[in-house]
Amino acid sequence: MAISAFNLFSIGVGPSSSHTVGPMRAARQAMLICQEHGILLQAAYVKVDLYGSLALTGKGHATDMAVTLGLAGETPEGVDPAYIQSKMAEIRATGKLLLLGQHQVAFHPEENVIFHRDKQLPYHPNGMRFTLYDKDDKAINSQVYYSVGGGFVVDHESASKDSHLVENKHVLPYPFHSGNELLAICKEHKFTIAELMMENEKSWRSAEEVSSGLLHIWDVMEKCIARGCQQEGILPGGLNVKRRAADLYKTLMTRDESKRHMAEVMEWVSLWALAVNEENAAGSRVVTAPTNGAAGVIPAVIHYYLRMTPNATNEGIVAFMLVAAGIGILYKENASISAAEMGCMGEVGVACSMAAAGLTAAVGGTNEQVENAAEIGMEHNLGLTCDPVMGLVQIPCIERNTMGAIKAINASLLAMQGDGTHRVSLDQVIETMRQTGHSMDHIFKETSLGGLAVNVPEC
Ligand code: SF4
Repeated sequence: MAISAFNLFSIGVGPSSSHTVGPMRAARQAMLICQEHGILLQAAYVKVDLYGSLALTGKGHATDMAVTLGLAGETPEGVDPAYIQSKMAEIRATGKLLLLGQHQVAFHPEENVIFHRDKQLPYHPNGMRFTLYDKDDKAINSQVYYSVGGGFVVDHESASKDSHLVENKHVLPYPFHSGNELLAICKEHKFTIAELMMENEKSWRSAEEVSSGLLHIWDVMEKCIARGCQQEGILPGGLNVKRRAADLYKTLMTRDESKRHMAEVMEWVSLWALAVNEENAAGSRVVTAPTNGAAGVIPAVIHYYLRMTPNATNEGIVAFMLVAAGIGILYKENASISAAEMGCMGEVGVACSMAAAGLTAAVGGTNEQVENAAEIGMEHNLGLTCDPVMGLVQIPCIERNTMGAIKAINASLLAMQGDGTHRVSLDQVIETMRQTGHSMDHIFKETSLGGLAVNVPEC
């Protein structure tokens, strides 16, 4: 398997990469296959069956909206967040949907998207089935997909081989499958981890395109922070969560000199993470990093790098993102970045580890210090559960990103204090995370059946 940094950092919409971005991609993919086989035009209506975690938290994560738009041909990167609500209102009002924008079928989201809360498909908790019916109610095509975290999607056949992997035959010049292997290859070829990642990325695109592409992604992240710092009011979904970023931004910008304090840097980092995750919760434009639920950690830490460390540069941002992606790939290959499999370890935990590594690389840490920072970033997120209240990516998700970002900075500072030698390796902590995730009860894995989700009254 070859994964690019651009697979991990993909531009999409909130609130969830596994429950919004992935299902939208899967729905579109299913329709494209029907089109390819000449079946699309025979369809009179479509049913979408959602299983497992997608069914249990899909309402709060807007999975019904995502699959509806995906059937219509929309992509997470292309869809205009400002148009989503009016488009959905039109489909609901007319009961009609244009598959891939071409072929009209009857479609009522409330009836045609079915949430099977007590059933699960075999290979992953985030399963979905798309079935096309003709005018005689005969099923003419049925496809199963799994949304395996971070917006990645696999079909039934690929999932039957390995639920975590996205099959592709791309060959990388410097493939690595563990932290130790990554360090060994870098040592052999005298690469920094960022340089090795750049060599691998160059198997898809030129170095200039990699740098400009990553800086464009950073620009989208930065704009998300800027928007989040201006938006006020209550987040959608019914939990009545008040946006806090705008107030905090005003407070920090106008605070009297005499009231400034040493810990203010933590408030700034929290602000940047809050801003992104409030935007995510509002269904706005965000970048998976590596998921939507954890989308605030890496932007907040890059912002910290730019604003609060000396000599920050664009090259440093590119190195940050390449190294963070390299660490994210290790988690995706050897454990999972899906909260439905790993709890919040797979989202905020992984983002924290990636950000710690990225920051360490950007400030000039050695490869060993980078690996150490990544390890610390995960070690202190082990066991972190996923229990979103009302299935919304709001509580505990928004604040949790502030914690992930601050922990990442601390992990990097701790790693930079040492020389890279340490007792627990990154590979050991990833394996521990995998085992912990598998032992974790399903009520703590993006089902909203346990934890805060059952102890905080819905209002
Ligand atoms: S608790 Fe963590 S993993 Fe679960 S939805 Fe929130 S951010 Fe994602």
